[in-house]
Amino acid sequence: MDLLKNKIVTEGRVEGEDIIKVDSFLNHQVDVELLNEIGKEFKRRFEKEEINKILTIEASGIAIACLAAQHFNVPVVFAKKTQSKNLDKDVYETEVFSFTKGIHYKVKVSKKYLNSDDKVLVLDDFLANGRAALGLKDIVDQSGANLVGIGIVIEKSFQDGCNLLAEKGIRVESLAKINGVEDGKVIFK
Ligand code: 5GP
Repeated sequence: MDLLKNKIVTEGRVEGEDIIKVDSFLNHQVDVELLNEIGKEFKRRFEKEEINKILTIEASGIAIACLAAQHFNVPVVFAKKTQSKNLDKDVYETEVFSFTKGIHYKVKVSKKYLNSDDKVLVLDDFLANGRAALGLKDIVDQSGANLVGIGIVIEKSFQDGCNLLAEKGIRVESLAKINGVEDGKVIFK
């Protein structure tokens, strides 16, 4: 997706060896027009699939999922990372290791919003080692729903996540694939 790649080249920043910062359009400030185009592209790629729900994880996944959901005409459910008195007691729960924070945390989805009739598309901003994606897959599995596929905005193909998900036979559609980082610049696949 050239629009996205250009945005990564012009506004993205590399931190350390493997962190791509895209705060100006995805992770802090949100470029709604770009996210709308991203949503259309996910719809184009999963056009033939029957999908009745989009699942993501807070926080950055929510904007991506909501813009995409307008093209699928389905609701969005986001897994909650924070403890809250408001959250139902009856939840699916799994543990995820955060790539950026280096800690384990629990994510939860109320059983009200995911069940065995659902055909679920998982969307997220980045794919690194696949922990967030596998956590969401675990939640889908617990609910008995069908995981149709996973849509990723930026895949870091040099990390383990893409292979791990492929080994499990999961269809992954990534809109920008980064092969590595050289002299502070991203190299696309
Ligand atoms: P994974 O679970 O695949 O190891 O990492 C994916 C999650 O970590 C994403 O949901 C994203 O929030 C965060 N993440 C991983 N790599 C990067 C990165 O290079 N840049 C940013 N901004 N977030 C990342």
